[in-house]
Amino acid sequence: MAVKEVILLGNPLLREKSSDAAFDDELERIIEDLKDTLTHLQNEKGIGRALAAPQIGYLKRVIFVNAKSSKNPRTMTLINPTIVEKSKEIIEVWDSCYSFDVAFFVRIKRHKRIKVEYMDENGRKIVEEFEDDLSELLQHEIDHLNGILATDHLRSGKDIIMREEWEKRYLN
Ligand SMILES: [Zn+2]
Repeated sequence: MAVKEVILLGNPLLREKSSDAAFDDELERIIEDLKDTLTHLQNEKGIGRALAAPQIGYLKRVIFVNAKSSKNPRTMTLINPTIVEKSKEIIEVWDSCYSFDVAFFVRIKRHKRIKVEYMDENGRKIVEEFEDDLSELLQHEIDHLNGILATDHLRSGKDIIMREEWEKRYLN
């Protein structure tokens, strides 16, 4: 059990491609650390829904989601996830990241629906479709496993906003 430090934008580790996780002791430790760290961050920052293993220094394809404010609240662990289908339909979202310290948001485009193949904590293979907020969230997290950050999707420097301004303009 450990709350880990989150690796921040600019650190080259965030640009590495993670490798598949095996079902071993390390995987158990990664999942525990992701859960502990996400719980800590959600309490500390009052925002955020998920964390990917490379953000806490493990270059393994593991994601933990605790999206309690979603319209479809979900808690789940995704091991070795891959996107197997993407909708042509696109949505525009304001996205941020614990690796940006949630200090700013970027306006980017994501697929409205995706189909993801992954394994759960028990090694069961699951193929599941996600829509809207969970779809854009998982696209963000799976990007982390490939060394891609939300800022890479920016089309214009005008699509960045500090958190305080974003809360004033776009919350409620
Ligand atoms: Zn992120």
